[in-house]
Amino acid sequence: MKSISLILILLFFTNFIPAQMSTSSPIIRQRPIKLDQKRIDLSLEYMKMHYGIIQKEPTIVPKMIVLHYTEGGTLESNIQYFKAPYLSSRPDLTDGSNLNVSAQFIIDRDGSIYQLLPSNFFARHTIGLNYCAIGVENIGGSKNPLTAAQVNANAYLIRYLSEKYPIEYLIGHSEYFIFRNTRLWKDKNPNYYTQKFDPGEEFMQQLRAKVQDLHLKNQP
Ligand SMILES: [Zn+2]
Repeated sequence: MKSISLILILLFFTNFIPAQMSTSSPIIRQRPIKLDQKRIDLSLEYMKMHYGIIQKEPTIVPKMIVLHYTEGGTLESNIQYFKAPYLSSRPDLTDGSNLNVSAQFIIDRDGSIYQLLPSNFFARHTIGLNYCAIGVENIGGSKNPLTAAQVNANAYLIRYLSEKYPIEYLIGHSEYFIFRNTRLWKDKNPNYYTQKFDPGEEFMQQLRAKVQDLHLKNQP
């Protein structure tokens, strides 16, 4: 008798578990980069210098998600690197701004998602498009392909961000050149451009298959 009522109670409660919770969703963990005055000033300066955008706060209205891989390092070493407000070891990027590169999110090889910056805070990760793009870094690289867990975690995060913001575009960093010479590309310097290969075509294919229903565009 006791076991029957226990089963009934369990059946009652499992009906009330929201669909999202019943499929083991990865959670977004917080590893905030300090939003100190240095970072704020450097971000505002970058926005003004590269995009002609003058604002009081370095915030963005996200309409694009750009996926990346780090190419090297661990979760911790990459978080440590992104924490510094000033750019240190990237001579290819010293074009006019000392703001360090970063991304709003970073995903470890086991699919754990970490948030480094508020999703609408400016981050330097994709030339020409930073003013409207949320960057997602993934630990991995050309010799260390991204994992199935990372595909799932990116899909989860894209879904989450698409509910929060009017996201129209989803691209891999290697695809960003398509936006050059369009109204979306805002960099004032037409020669400021570097070729990218991350996060890889196969990864993007697998990912797009998982978020097909969101109808995100991959070109202007
Ligand atoms: Zn990248």
